[in-house]
Amino acid sequence: MRKNKLNKTLGIIGGGQLGKMIGLAAANLGISCYFYDSDKNAPAQKISQLFFNYSFDNKKKLEEFAKYCDFITYEFENIPLNTLHKISKYRKIYPGIKALQISQDRFLEKSFIENLGIKVTDYKKVNSLDDISKTLKQKFKKGIIKTRRLGYDGKGQTIIDLNNVENIKLKIKPNFYILEKLISFKKEISVIAIRNKKGEIKTFEPTQNLHKKGILRETVFPAQISKKCSLSAKNIAKKIAKELNIVGIIAVEMFVLKDESILVNEIAPRPHNSGHWTIDACNISQFDALVRSIFDIPIPQIKYLNNCKMINLLGENFNNYKKYLNKKNCSVYIYGKNKIKTDRKMGHVNLIL
Ligand code: ADP
Ligand code: MG
Repeated sequence: MRKNKLNKTLGIIGGGQLGKMIGLAAANLGISCYFYDSDKNAPAQKISQLFFNYSFDNKKKLEEFAKYCDFITYEFENIPLNTLHKISKYRKIYPGIKALQISQDRFLEKSFIENLGIKVTDYKKVNSLDDISKTLKQKFKKGIIKTRRLGYDGKGQTIIDLNNVENIKLKIKPNFYILEKLISFKKEISVIAIRNKKGEIKTFEPTQNLHKKGILRETVFPAQISKKCSLSAKNIAKKIAKELNIVGIIAVEMFVLKDESILVNEIAPRPHNSGHWTIDACNISQFDALVRSIFDIPIPQIKYLNNCKMINLLGENFNNYKKYLNKKNCSVYIYGKNKIKTDRKMGHVNLIL
């Protein structure tokens, strides 16, 4: 059963907080949202008009889901590619399958970006402890081993140097890890680029990100970097958006070095935690921008209404949200997860500066 043409529907794969916030933005534009997630308690379930709670390899249900929707988007990188291929037989998927495929694998991701002439952190595919020792000896002394796939919020990462290679507890499997040089960066920033169906690209201004234990804690707009550095960062994000041919948004995480040169860390072709500030500090948010690109709705010039600090509420400090509720410069967002866990993103606060 298709909806009549006036009532458009967006299908969102993944019902986490990002999916939920895409859904809310779509609702503001009169678009209905259907979600697909294998977790029946996913936060977006609370706002979903139709919630498909099936596994990501249920071919029949994926097909049914796709046919209900006009377009499909996804909210996390680690969706099996097979799922998307099954859906793409019926409906267009944005920001795009190629972008997702590349961002799912750190090795493909870094090689792709490097081939565009954009600098990335020094990295190497490593298949054995011997490879790791050699790379540390020959290329850089300190590094981070990262799983190529399925890592997020610093998961699957181990800092390593020549002195502790022998003690490393990882079982090194072929094609499973990369080793990256440990960078002593001056700042971490990110840029979100928006690309519409005509290929026009805009970006939000860079923001400055503070991570601890690999997890984003705070994002501040504006980033404390020079105009020149900001321009380079935006141009890098634009180039990646163009070359990946996305429709929608893509976040590009970067390291800024002492001399203000930039290394790209990673990309995410979806809304990003470091873009939540746009909900309260801009005329359109990253979520609005994604929905507008998908449905070919004009995207205005981005206006910055306020400076802003976004603070993540993780499991261990979740109860802090109470202290922000009654403050006039704070907007509190609670994701509605069913269990509080240490390091789990439970909500965020946008503090207008
Ligand atoms: P995830 O997919 O988990 O976000 P990232 O590669 O972005 O993985 O790593 C998480 C955080 O760990 C980064 O934001 C940064 O603070 C730190 N980090 C990652 N790689 C490096 C590196 N090569 N050198 C220094 N710090 C790093
Ligand atoms: Mg990251």
